Amino acid sequence: MTKLLIIEDDNDIRSNLMDWFQFEGYEVFGAPNGRVGLEAVLDQRPDLILCDILMPELDGYDVLIGVRAAGDVSNTPFIFITAASDRESMRKGMTLGADDYLTKPFTRMEILNAVRARLEKRSVESALIQHQIDLMQHLLLEEHERSQLKSRLVALFSHDFRNPLASIQSASNIIRNYEDRLTPERKQQYLDRIDGSVQQLTQMLEDMLMVAEVESGHLRYVPGALDITPFVEGIVADFRLIDFGSHTLDFRSSVRGHVEADRRLLRHIISNLLSNALKYSPAASTVRVTLDAPDGTLRLAVADEGIGIPEVCLPRLFEPFYRADNALRFNGTGLGLSIVHESITRHGGGVEVASAEGSGSTFVVTLPLKRV
Ligand code: ADP
Repeated sequence: MTKLLIIEDDNDIRSNLMDWFQFEGYEVFGAPNGRVGLEAVLDQRPDLILCDILMPELDGYDVLIGVRAAGDVSNTPFIFITAASDRESMRKGMTLGADDYLTKPFTRMEILNAVRARLEKRSVESALIQHQIDLMQHLLLEEHERSQLKSRLVALFSHDFRNPLASIQSASNIIRNYEDRLTPERKQQYLDRIDGSVQQLTQMLEDMLMVAEVESGHLRYVPGALDITPFVEGIVADFRLIDFGSHTLDFRSSVRGHVEADRRLLRHIISNLLSNALKYSPAASTVRVTLDAPDGTLRLAVADEGIGIPEVCLPRLFEPFYRADNALRFNGTGLGLSIVHESITRHGGGVEVASAEGSGSTFVVTLPLKRV
């Protein structure tokens, strides 16, 4: 209920005013002088104060000064009700920060309307202020998340960059220092390791740039004509190179000809699904990549025989940084699939995962098939 405080030394006027407002459904408190009035402001925290000016002990101006200096009640709407109608007292009241000024005698309607108008204005102002606060909080939260994302990215990538760098360094050291003792096959293995690590670093750098694009809401989408089967086959071949024969990587395609797609995003989608399939599968298992085109769609499936994904984790799999519990012993950032999802969305496609813990995973990407 809206609370009013009426500070008025004339008992008749005060009790009349209190009756009027009580009949209108307000909760009303009365104070017979300025000192009691100021105490009531702090005790009752009214929504609006009606106050006489000429009163014993503490006059209306002093009450207003006291209210405006009183911390969190200092903004309470304040209306003077007074017999003093001269310009000087009005100006003084308004300068001190009164919201309105009513001269006695006034009718019931006049004072009810003045109070209503003031309360409405205050509620509009409060809603506006609340809106601004909500907006500021939202912006602050976004900024906070952004800066958190940045520091997490820096930490993750600076950690993950070290492994391939160390691998390049040790392979090149071995070739430089022991070249005469290496068989041609061994030497080729070290060179392949360097190639593989460079590719891994390039991929990580690409991921990082894509995260920055996704974060700024502008993941670039540049569709072009792509001879799809050799394109996917080429990526699979690159991965065979990095995998050093640990897995069998099987590729089949029944699609011929060119389709419209974004080369960079599609490479990201395929590379990420493939690198996950290899990472989360035991050595000597098979990873199958299949490309076909049923019902006007281009469908790419990547199936592995690896650790699988617990059912409870499936709904969150494409969230940035999310990693399933059973994957934590492997290196990873939890970012790849979130960019995969964004890249598929930019093509107007979708992705589904069929998996169970311990029995492999199959990711199926479906894109609208646009032949060119
Ligand atoms: P990460 O860098 O952790 O591999 P991703 O965003 O690529 O990040 O994947 C998110 C999570 O999804 C992984 O941490 C893992 O829990 C799960 N995941 C993705 N692909 C596979 C897969 N082929 N087999 C098992 N779990 C997978």
